[in-house]
Amino acid sequence: MAKVYNWQIGREMSYWYPEARPERQFAAVFDVNKCIACQTCTLACKTTWTSGRGQEYMLWNNVETKPYGFYPLAWDVNVLQALGPQRWESGRYDGRTIFEAARPGERALGWRPTELDYAHPNVGEDDCHGEVEKGAAFGGQHLLWFFYLARICNHCTYPACLASCPRGSIYKRPEDGIVLLDQGRCRGYQECVKACPYKKVFFNPLTGVSEKCIACFPKIEQGLQPQCFANCIGKIRLAGWLSTPDKADPANPLDYLVHVRKVAKPLMPQLGLEPNVYYIPPLHAPPGFLEQMFGPGVEEALATYRTADDDLAGLLGLFGSTERVVPRWRREGDWILGLEEGGAEIVRVPLREPVHIRAGLDPRFGIQRTNCP
Ligand code: SF4
Ligand code: SF4
Repeated sequence: MAKVYNWQIGREMSYWYPEARPERQFAAVFDVNKCIACQTCTLACKTTWTSGRGQEYMLWNNVETKPYGFYPLAWDVNVLQALGPQRWESGRYDGRTIFEAARPGERALGWRPTELDYAHPNVGEDDCHGEVEKGAAFGGQHLLWFFYLARICNHCTYPACLASCPRGSIYKRPEDGIVLLDQGRCRGYQECVKACPYKKVFFNPLTGVSEKCIACFPKIEQGLQPQCFANCIGKIRLAGWLSTPDKADPANPLDYLVHVRKVAKPLMPQLGLEPNVYYIPPLHAPPGFLEQMFGPGVEEALATYRTADDDLAGLLGLFGSTERVVPRWRREGDWILGLEEGGAEIVRVPLREPVHIRAGLDPRFGIQRTNCP
């Protein structure tokens, strides 16, 4: 095992291969507060990539209701339980990662879902945590909660799928950090399915090889955001490139959200994979649950989000405004500009939605408008 540095857990950790960061890392921010669980992303992916035989059960993108939704069943509960105590001390993770907790003969602490675990992708949908007393009225404070968690492959910096493959079939592209699986090399051992804690590799029983999310790399190569991003109804997603914290550039929208304002957090950083999809946590769920899911700093992130200034609020308005990947941004007065690397403008969005007030009487036709007071 090599020693590598994982900035999300604030320390060195053991990994199967030495540290080899790509030239630039594909990454994303999802704003959980805006997701409506319409599953348009799921279908956009499904119809693009997994509509073939043997792929029926595969959801490279899925959206589950937390705390009781999972795909596959109990993916997070199983890994957290197997891992044991997870302690953080001043931003440093003192517990074991799944690489450090691997059983003898394993490269990462894993488990393999059964067919039944994949049978109910909508289990727990819209189930609240807690119960409403019969006849209880809303008292101004939401005591019950749930939220929607959209998930894709995290194109991890230290992928467990890659580490666990005895055939060396999984690789991380040096040009963009996208994690791909060479189906020609794969022999269907399913070690990757077992090792990925997020359960984002799927075995195709008809072809006998595994498959996974490819971050729509043919689109990325053309400077376009993946299908699940471009089709997102809630405009919760922004794809781009993420630097390490020491090279954070405030003009890069992802660096700004993750490193500068620290409003977006990784999914279960304690597992040790340095996942590259970041989440703006939901505002109304209990902090303890959110810390387990997104690591330390959640309350600070939510405080920043709640009191967003014009820069932050404006940048959030760039989400879903264009199909192009926006590598740079800046605010110009009441406009937020999405820019190419060289500075050319891709898109501009207003800081505030314009409000049009129509007079009750239409002076042109001399008639009263029925939709005005
Ligand atoms: Fe591999 Fe899973 Fe990480 Fe994707 S999320 S790169 S499948 S370990
Ligand atoms: Fe959520 Fe967007 Fe997917 Fe709809 S398309 S479920 S809003 S992530």
